[in-house]
Amino acid sequence: SLNGKTAIVTGSNSGIGLGIARELARAGADVVLNSFTDRGEDHALARALADEFGVKARYIKADMSKGEECRNLIEQAGACDILVNNAGIQHVSPIDEFPVEKWDAIIAINLNSAFHTTAAALPMMRAAGWGRIVNIASAHGLTASPFKAAYVAAKHGIVGMTKTVALETAQEPITCNAICPGYVLTPLVEAQIPDTMEKYGMGREEVIKKVMLERQPSKEFATVEQLGGTAVFLCSDAAAQITGTTISVDGGWTAL
Ligand code: NAD
Repeated sequence: SLNGKTAIVTGSNSGIGLGIARELARAGADVVLNSFTDRGEDHALARALADEFGVKARYIKADMSKGEECRNLIEQAGACDILVNNAGIQHVSPIDEFPVEKWDAIIAINLNSAFHTTAAALPMMRAAGWGRIVNIASAHGLTASPFKAAYVAAKHGIVGMTKTVALETAQEPITCNAICPGYVLTPLVEAQIPDTMEKYGMGREEVIKKVMLERQPSKEFATVEQLGGTAVFLCSDAAAQITGTTISVDGGWTAL
């Protein structure tokens, strides 16, 4: 059980981050949720987790595109046994037309934020004598697709940083790994289904299997619960010697 551990999950007011925070709370961890907004509904998500799982949960606003706010998130949390670097955005464009501000935002949120949070969290993990860093990369951390230059660069970058942090902590009770999801059914992905159905004149199942999951051999989405379960596994004693590696949760995408 993760009782008494504090987990910070960046970008966790929706989708995969929230799913991971839920599974960590189910396993007994106190959780810190985060995004860049500060709405009543953000704080309500934390209260709901506390009520459901009997753990401490709070929401801390911090913009992961800003290095100082990344570091402040860790400081404000006051403890960080488990760090899940999950915040991420996407933009799709040919590289010669790629808007510079989108490139900068993707590198800042998807890659630089993990540098800042890891730098701030490691001293706390060392003081506590235990730590787990779980970076949410992507199948695009291992393979590429056209028009996703910034995303693919950032995700390959975080896989590289994962290996370096693992080497720097190899002789300590701290591990650092990356989870590489394929297509995951998040509210964001769900919201694209009706438009795509209309665009291709296809039904829901056909759009999912032929268009969205074209590259995912299982023809099934991964779920946020499965990603949460993978994160909980990486925090377990069974995973103590797993460090500096990637775990794909992609229905066979990267086996192709
Ligand atoms: P999502 O849009 O539901 O979640 C992204 C989260 O990041 C949200 O909570 C959002 O508020 C937060 N965020 C965005 N910008 C931020 C900022 N500046 N500061 C703080 N928080 C910020 O999408 P998701 O699918 O759950 O994505 C989560 C992670 O999983 C991302 O890193 C994404 O690249 C990765 N991923 C997703 C898929 C997929 O199919 N959905 C596949 C592979 C990898």
